[in-house]
Amino acid sequence: MAAGVAAVLPICDDVRDRGAEAVRAYTARFDGIDLPTTIVPRSALAAALAALNPAVAGALKEAARRARLVHEAQVPLDSVTYVDEGSSVTERYVPVARAGVYVPGGLVAYPSSVVMNVIPAQAAGVGEIVVASPPQQDNGALPHPAVLAACELLAITEVHAVGGAQAIAMLGYGTADCPAVDVVTGPGNVYVAAAKRVLRGVVSTDGEAGPTEVAIVADGDADAAFVAADLIAQAEHDPLAACLLITTDAGLADRVDAELITQLESTRHAGRVKEALTGQSACVLVSDIGAALAVSDAWAPEHLEIQAAGAAQVAARVRNAGAVFVGPYAPVSLGDYLAGSNHVLPTGGTARHSGGLSVLTFLRGIHVVNCTSDALAGAAPYIDALGGAEDLAAHVRAVRIRVPAAASTAVPPAGAASGRSDPPLRHDLRGRSPYGAPQIAAQVRLNTNENPFSPPAALVREIAEAAAVEAATLNRYPDRHATELRRDLAAYLGHGLSADHTWAANGSNEIIQQLYQAFGGPGRSALGFEPSYSMHPIIAQATSTRWISGAREEDFGLDPERAVAAVAETAPDLVFLTSPNNPTGTALPLAAIERVCAAAPGMVIVDEAYAEFARDLQATALTLLPQFARLVVVRTMSKAFALAGARVGYLAADPAVVTALQIVRLPYHLSALTQAAARAALAHSEELLGVVAAIRDERDGLIGWLRARGLAVADSDANFVLFGTFADRHAVWQSLLDQGVLIREVGPPGWLRVSIGTPDENDAFRAAVEAVLP
Ligand code: PMP
Repeated sequence: MAAGVAAVLPICDDVRDRGAEAVRAYTARFDGIDLPTTIVPRSALAAALAALNPAVAGALKEAARRARLVHEAQVPLDSVTYVDEGSSVTERYVPVARAGVYVPGGLVAYPSSVVMNVIPAQAAGVGEIVVASPPQQDNGALPHPAVLAACELLAITEVHAVGGAQAIAMLGYGTADCPAVDVVTGPGNVYVAAAKRVLRGVVSTDGEAGPTEVAIVADGDADAAFVAADLIAQAEHDPLAACLLITTDAGLADRVDAELITQLESTRHAGRVKEALTGQSACVLVSDIGAALAVSDAWAPEHLEIQAAGAAQVAARVRNAGAVFVGPYAPVSLGDYLAGSNHVLPTGGTARHSGGLSVLTFLRGIHVVNCTSDALAGAAPYIDALGGAEDLAAHVRAVRIRVPAAASTAVPPAGAASGRSDPPLRHDLRGRSPYGAPQIAAQVRLNTNENPFSPPAALVREIAEAAAVEAATLNRYPDRHATELRRDLAAYLGHGLSADHTWAANGSNEIIQQLYQAFGGPGRSALGFEPSYSMHPIIAQATSTRWISGAREEDFGLDPERAVAAVAETAPDLVFLTSPNNPTGTALPLAAIERVCAAAPGMVIVDEAYAEFARDLQATALTLLPQFARLVVVRTMSKAFALAGARVGYLAADPAVVTALQIVRLPYHLSALTQAAARAALAHSEELLGVVAAIRDERDGLIGWLRARGLAVADSDANFVLFGTFADRHAVWQSLLDQGVLIREVGPPGWLRVSIGTPDENDAFRAAVEAVLP
């Protein structure tokens, strides 16, 4: 390597100093091609893919699909750790802006290398990915067509025809044709490896790949033909490939030998295979599997196959290996192309300390530190002590200038730090407090968007009667499919829906939780447009789903173009659209919802908790259900049906979605009493909707009144109104509470939300506003 570094150092320095001109000179010298620019025209990429054997194109596509699944799952979740109350550290994983992938040319160009390097970068979210590969004289001075085709297939648009050390230097230092990248990956010859070493510190690089290796741990039951085939496959890469058979069975060693002789006769690259197998390869006979693993761990092979009894258990004991292939049907060749695992793996014993190429190659963890004044005061005595011990007085002062020392500032004894006795809550939930509107005693409570009217007397009676009937059989579990309730819900919704299209749970909050459990979860993401219903991100967190915060427009609506762009950019597994929206009251036009449904790669949840209060009752996403199989419309009986206390939420969706949710629901989640109460209320829907109409009128009256007072009021299609804006909204909220009217301090800064009450309650609210804001 030292000789390689000495050879490439002047080349790298020259590219650093003279840029594209130097690259052109080295390409002319080493490749015999004079290229005025390294940039490969887009048309050449498209032409290469068009000319690629369709079977190969299809195979690359499948390889990419599988690799994408594996690498997207690798992306670490941002994690928040509360080290003390008010003091947290968030680990944020941020992709590099620009990555360069080197793909060697030579006699055999490996399009699979393009997949293995590009997919992790794409999964990590790298903004710009460029590929460099040497120009070839017999390909019109372009890189190998298979490489170009693979680039096109993976939507890589920037490809440079340049190879060797000058390519690595171009990527690292940048030229007029190719701005500098942040990370360089990809295999190459000794000069490429040497150039990566020279560039160390300028860019980050993947590991230095040496000759490929396999170790096969096998017992007497292993299939000798399989073992021999895998040894030959590895040897086929390179005469320097190292192939180690580690076996507990001398008989197997003999059988593999015999197989090698037979199979070698029909091996295409017999020359290099023989060279590798008779050179640095070997068979090691050991007493037992433990000893086999000890040998393998000491060598730390790039690839390790376990072809022995209890292979999965044996694999779990491996300490050092680039990748482990378990059992007779997971050969290394699967991993080279199609397992979805990465085939860029540590060689030469570096598996002792390094893993293979992954999304982490393209991500950096950034610690984001938050601390309140109280928490800093709590930490200060420790900083006093440590800063004092290291004689860094200015460090201590930078803390004490913020939180001056109180009379007693002794460092608490070791182990006395707060939190020691806390139960072992998931670290991402530590320091969180339970969510919920403050339950403050007030004469007039207009803070939780409830229906202000009690259920009608006849309904109250019927619920009681139905409950009495159910009470007689409460020794039995309820219908866990809630079939009759779902049938009634479908009938209420109309739109041609049946029981199969509906699902019910304890409030739409539970419906939302079930949607996350089934379609979100670790490694998955949900996008919502805020300000909106705060439980959407909160339940995301509880289910370890990454929350992506999109933005609503100034008027709290959605611009379809921007919403679709956000969906395209973030490719979320779930999109939440709240319409009418809480806390703004804004209803979304159906056209906007339709655009998002068409663009979303996963589920679209339209939260219509307030649908019945909308001014245009026809504009419900229910009408889009026949068009979109992944659309879910969430409703609740808490609002329009005056049934918040019964906890009934529901959804309408394609029956396949309902079936999926049944996997995550708890058995018998909806009590018999709840089901009975909900059915009784549904039987009164006409009367209840009459009350809703009255609430709508009250709302429109209140909006007019607030506006007439010069206040800003968001258009509302719900049973509440967002109004403002106040420099100190908390003071306004408190003053209203002092007047006996409890509303909600929620929404964007400066705004307050008031739920529509009974006419008397609304009068009380108006009187309080007049008193507070004369
Ligand atoms: N979605 C939205 C938009 C809401 O505002 C609410 C409650 N405020 C819910 C869902 C949950 O309601 P529930 O669980 O009572 O059905």
